[in-house]
Amino acid sequence: MKKAVVNHKQCVACGACADKCPKDAISIFKGIVAVIDIDKCVGCTLCTKVCPANAIAMEKK
Ligand code: SF4
Ligand code: SF4
Repeated sequence: MKKAVVNHKQCVACGACADKCPKDAISIFKGIVAVIDIDKCVGCTLCTKVCPANAIAMEKK
């Protein structure tokens, strides 16, 4: 299954992905970068669609 991966250099910590994730797999670490718990991620791709910085990619894990 593919899982969401954040490009930390591109992320602007807007929180849109965390708000959208149906599995509550994303948190904003110290208000600076999105962090994804890959054990919770089910690969739905919703976070990639809402990210304004195009900072989330789907990668095979
Ligand atoms: S792919 Fe879906 S389940 Fe995984 S982090 Fe993104 S929104 Fe959450
Ligand atoms: S939506 Fe994109 S820019 Fe915003 S917190 Fe998530 S990964 Fe970062």
